[in-house]
Amino acid sequence: MSDNTTGADEGADADVSRSVDWTNAIGDGGLVVVSNRQPYSHTYGDDDISVEVHAGGLTAGLDPVMQAVGGTWIAWGDGDADREVVDGNDCVPAPPDDPGYTLRRVWLDGEEVDDYYYGFSNQVLWPICHSALTNVTEWERYWEQYRSVNERFVDAVEDHTEAGDIVWFQDYHFALAPAIARERVDDTVLMQFWHVPWPAWDTFRGCPHGEAILEGLLGNDLLVFHVPRYRENFLRCVETVLGDAAVDHETGTVQYNGHSTQITEFPMGVQVDEIAERASSDEADEFWADFTEKYNVADTVAIGVDRLDYSKGIPERLRALEQFWERNPEWRGKLTYVGKSSETRSRIDSYQAVQERIEAGIERVNDRFGTDDWTPVLSFDEYISKKALASLYRHSDLALVSPIRDGMNLVAQEYVAAQGDDDGVLVLSDQAGASRLLDAALTVKPQNTGAFTDAIERALSMRGAERRARMQRLREQVSENDLAAWTWLNLRAARALHDGDGSVREPGLPTGG
Ligand code: UDP
Repeated sequence: MSDNTTGADEGADADVSRSVDWTNAIGDGGLVVVSNRQPYSHTYGDDDISVEVHAGGLTAGLDPVMQAVGGTWIAWGDGDADREVVDGNDCVPAPPDDPGYTLRRVWLDGEEVDDYYYGFSNQVLWPICHSALTNVTEWERYWEQYRSVNERFVDAVEDHTEAGDIVWFQDYHFALAPAIARERVDDTVLMQFWHVPWPAWDTFRGCPHGEAILEGLLGNDLLVFHVPRYRENFLRCVETVLGDAAVDHETGTVQYNGHSTQITEFPMGVQVDEIAERASSDEADEFWADFTEKYNVADTVAIGVDRLDYSKGIPERLRALEQFWERNPEWRGKLTYVGKSSETRSRIDSYQAVQERIEAGIERVNDRFGTDDWTPVLSFDEYISKKALASLYRHSDLALVSPIRDGMNLVAQEYVAAQGDDDGVLVLSDQAGASRLLDAALTVKPQNTGAFTDAIERALSMRGAERRARMQRLREQVSENDLAAWTWLNLRAARALHDGDGSVREPGLPTGG
C-alpha cells in the first residue's frame, strides 16, 4: 500500500459501504484492524491542532467499515500532536469529528522507525517481495526492532481483543505478529492481507530470517494475497522451508504446529463509484481548465501516477516515451506525458538512486524534444486533492502503468474508474497483480522498450470502437472487484472459518442495512 499522500482538506468522504451490511459480514464479534499507517493523524498547526486524513486506498476504504461496525484500529501514531489528544490508554475516538470506533496509537521512537520501518520492512521484506534482491540490506538491529515492534503491536491487540473478535493484520510490517498473537489471545480469528507480491522460492531463499517470517504468518487462521500465483509461491516456500508443514495445494491449507491456516486470494479493488463522482465534479473540471492553461498541455495526454519507488518502472517508461517521440516526430508537440508522483522512503539509498535516475530521464527527454511552447514530460510532486487527481485520470487519453513488480497496483484501477463513459486506453505491465484482473488493457513488459513503444503507438492509433469496447470491459472488471467487494470477501471468509463452515469463498455482496 501507499505510504504517502495525506490531505488535511478532505474528510473521509469516501463511502465504501455500497449499502453493504457490514455488521452481518463479521457476525457477533468485534473487529480489530492492525496497520502500520493510521487513518487519522494529529499535527500542530500555527495555533491549533489539526487532523490529517490519510488518503491511501486501504485506510480510506476500511474507515467507513470501522465506522459501521465499531471496534479498534491499532496503528503507529506518527503525527507530531498525536500524543496530545490520546487518553490514558493511548486511544482517541475516530473519526475525530464523528466518532464511530477507537483509534489506538502505538508509539515508535527514532530507532524503531529506522530499523523496523525503514530497515527490515523496507530494506528487507519490500525488496524481497518485489524480487529486487540487490536492494536488500540487513543489519541485525533491523531484525531485532522488527520483532520487538511486532510484539508491541500485539500488546495493543491483547488490550483490545475479546473472544469472538476478528483481528485483521495488514501487510508486510506484521509478519511476526500473528504467531505471537496466537499464543496470547484465545478464540479469535487472526487474519492478514499481504498487499505486496509473494516471491518465488528461489527469491525468497534470499530472505534473512525467512523461516521465522513463514512461521509468523502461519499464526494466522486466514492469509490472503491478491492473486493465485502469490498464494502458490507462498505455499511452495512453506513446503520447502518448513519440513513439518502439511501443505494442501488444492484447498490452500497449511497444517503446522498443530494449527491450520487457510491461504487464499482476493484481489483488492478501489472505490469505483466515489472516484467516478470525483472525476465528474465541478472541482475536477476547474482543476483541469487551470492545469491545461498553466502548463500549456498538448491535446493528447498520457498519465502516470506513482510513488517514486524502484518497483514502479518509471525510468523504463521514460525510455519508451523517448523512443516513441524519436520514432514518431509527428507526435512532438501533440502528446504531453503528465507524471504525478510523490516522494517516498528517500532516506534509503536505492530510493535516492532511482529518484535521481528519474530526474535525469525527464531532463534528457525534455532537453531532446522540448520546445519553447511544449514540454514533453510534465512532472510534479506536490499534493493535489482527490478530485484533482481524478480529473487528471479522466482527461488523460492513455495511462502508462509500468511496474517492474507490483502486488496489485491500484492506480490502474483508479484510471479506469475515473474514465466514466470516456474511452481512454490503459497500458499495463504484466508484472502488476492488476494485470490478471484487467485483461482488456494493452499489456507490456516495461524493460522491453521496443514493445512498450509499440504499445504506446497502438494506444494512440486505436479506433474508437475498440477503445470503447476495451474500456467498457475494464469498467465492468473494476466495478465487480471494487473495494467493498474485497472487504466483504475478506471478512466473510474470516467469519466462515470462525463458524467452522470451512467455506472461505462467499459469493455475492449482501446489500441493505
Ligand atoms: N497516489 C497519490 N498521489 C501520488 C501517487 C500515488 O495519491 O502522487 C495514490 C494513488 O492514487 C493510489 C496509491 O497512492 O491510491 C498508490 O497505490 P498503488 O497500489 O498503485 O501503489 P503503492 O504506492 O501502494 O505501491
